[in-house]
Amino acid sequence: MSFHANGAIEYARQLRQRRPKTADRARCKKSAAYRRRFGPATQNVEPKSASSYMAKKRKKAKAIKLAVSCPYCNQLAELHDSSVVYSRSYGKIWICFACKAWVGTHKDSKEHKPLGRLANEELREAKKKAHAVFDPLWKRKIVKDNVPKHEARHAGYSWLASRMEISVNECHIGMFDIHQCQRVVEICKPYTEKFSNKVNV
Ligand SMILES: [Zn+2]
Repeated sequence: MSFHANGAIEYARQLRQRRPKTADRARCKKSAAYRRRFGPATQNVEPKSASSYMAKKRKKAKAIKLAVSCPYCNQLAELHDSSVVYSRSYGKIWICFACKAWVGTHKDSKEHKPLGRLANEELREAKKKAHAVFDPLWKRKIVKDNVPKHEARHAGYSWLASRMEISVNECHIGMFDIHQCQRVVEICKPYTEKFSNKVNV
């Protein structure tokens, strides 16, 4: 081995000695949250306990984000595949088995954001009736005015919101209670009937 190689090995050994031990290095990287939890770094603190503490904290934050409660019993709803209530799978649903209430989820949401509030059988029926009279109105606009689906639906909800005297942000059949669904039927039915008669003539 040459003189230069020996010198390099010796230098590397000295560097290793100067470097703090793994535990100390890990402690240097810890955040203010670590210091609040464990106080100033001491020789006895294991970095592993801090990382598991942070992992738990992250997990808890995630769990809070996903909490969906049942409006009938106020218990937390469970996330299941929709095949538990339908004959086939339509994606995930939030469900309260005790109240037989559920709601679908946004297809593009990683956290399975609910489409609205959980609905029991009575409310599901009311929502179906509301959609049956409201949807044909905005769908008609797609063909009549040649606009994209989302634009036609938004225009429909804007009109419905003004008729129901609520803000557009609050106006979604998925969010409505039974009384509001009945109002949708009252408001939309005359128009839906009128337009369907026109088509038939
Ligand atoms: Zn419930």
